[in-house]
Order: sequence, then C-alpha cells, then structure tokens
Amino acid sequence: MLPAIFFGHGNPMNALMTNAYTEAWRRIGEETPRPRAILSISAHWFVPGTFLTANERPETIHDFGGFPQPLFEMKYPAPGDVDLAKRIVSMLGNWQPALRSDWGLDHGTWSVLCHLYPHAYHPVVQLSIDRRLSPAEHFAIGSALTPLREQGVLIMGSGNITHNLRHAMASFRSGDRTTPSWANDFDAEVARAIEQHDWDQLARAVETDTGRMAHPTLDHYLPLLYAAGAAGDHDSVDFPITGFDGGSLSMRSVIFG
Ligand code: ZN
Repeated sequence: MLPAIFFGHGNPMNALMTNAYTEAWRRIGEETPRPRAILSISAHWFVPGTFLTANERPETIHDFGGFPQPLFEMKYPAPGDVDLAKRIVSMLGNWQPALRSDWGLDHGTWSVLCHLYPHAYHPVVQLSIDRRLSPAEHFAIGSALTPLREQGVLIMGSGNITHNLRHAMASFRSGDRTTPSWANDFDAEVARAIEQHDWDQLARAVETDTGRMAHPTLDHYLPLLYAAGAAGDHDSVDFPITGFDGGSLSMRSVIFG
C-alpha cells in the first residue's frame, strides 16, 4: 500500500535549486516504496472539468512567466500511462471525467518530481481540479481514488497550505520575511485537523476569514483534499517538511499512510 502525499511546492525555482525543501523531497523519494506510476493533482491545472492527461509522452509545461531561461529549458521526460488514465476515468464516473491530450506535466508536478525521482522513469498522469466543485466534492474524488494506492500508484497532491500570492510578492519586494499571524494560524489549524483525521474541518477550513486570507483562490489548497481523501482513517500522518518560504508561503508536506 503506497502512501498518498501532499507537497507544498512553493517557488518554481525550487526545481533548479538544492535547499532544505528539495533535499527533503529527494529523501521522500528514496524512502517511499517504488511506485508503478504516479497520479499528480497539481494546483496549476484548475479548470472547469475533471480531466486526465492521456499522452504517451506528456510535455513539460512551463506555466509561468518572469523566471530565468534555465527554468524554461527544464524537461521532465517521464512517460505517461494512458491505460491508467482510462482506468481512473472509469473509477470517477460520477464526475464525468474525460481524457485530454492538450495538457502535460505542469510545474506543480515537475518542480517536485525532478527532485523526488530525478531519473523520471515512473509514468506520470495528471488529474485536473474542477474549479466548479466544492471542497467536500474534491475530498470525495480523492476518496474514490484510494484503491489506486493498493495498485502501486503514488497519489500526490501539489499546492501550498497557505498561498496568498499578493502577500508573497510584497514580501519578496520588501525583503520582509516575517510570517504573518494569519499564515501561522491557518497552517497550524490545518495541521491539527490532519492529525485528528477531522476531514470535515479540513474541507471547511477555507471558509473563515483566516482561510480566505490564506487562500484568496482555492487552487493551491484543493490538492491537499485529494491526498487526504485518498487516506483512510487509520493511516498515520507525518509532516516531513514544515516552515514558510518568503514569509507567508507554507511549505508543509504531509505523508498519509
Ligand atoms: Zn504553485
């Protein structure tokens, strides 16, 4: 039984760097039982619909601007797994999923995987996040994916437990890396809900003022609900990475199981 893992991916430049986060990702790759394939739910495929990448050779998508050229030259040449994508379509019938060949691997996926599995041997499929659904529905999709963990599929969500881009950019410009109380509070509240396996609270956490400050839009929070949904009530939880990058961006990762 493979774990389900949520990664706080943070700055895309982590792909090119060696730091405490990327070292921890490398160790997680070494310590996790070898997957047959990876299903990634990335904050950066946030669209009106539930879609699966169905490419034999998924493209590395550089879905950002204003970064140095070497980041645009990064490739993560993992194969796809069309059969797995089709299998997931049949598992998620309630949400009318569809196969897509016009997306590949976005940086939410490859900026982490290039450290987790630098060799890129394992096939990777991405599942989109349907922006029209409620947090509880995203959690339910995660739950429907649970059987994959017994079939050698590593389910990874990639986002951030706090993600207020406007605040992060202001910190970056001013050089003030103080973590604001709303970021500390929300990160701690979410960690507590995870430790207590309080999935209702996890789905509702973004409804408060602190939650709205931590997530003006929900794209970076929802991947956590997929990973938590794929976890059982008896799965252990571990936080191999904690802390904030650039002041307010929680880099907390969660291993379920
Ligand atoms: Zn991101």
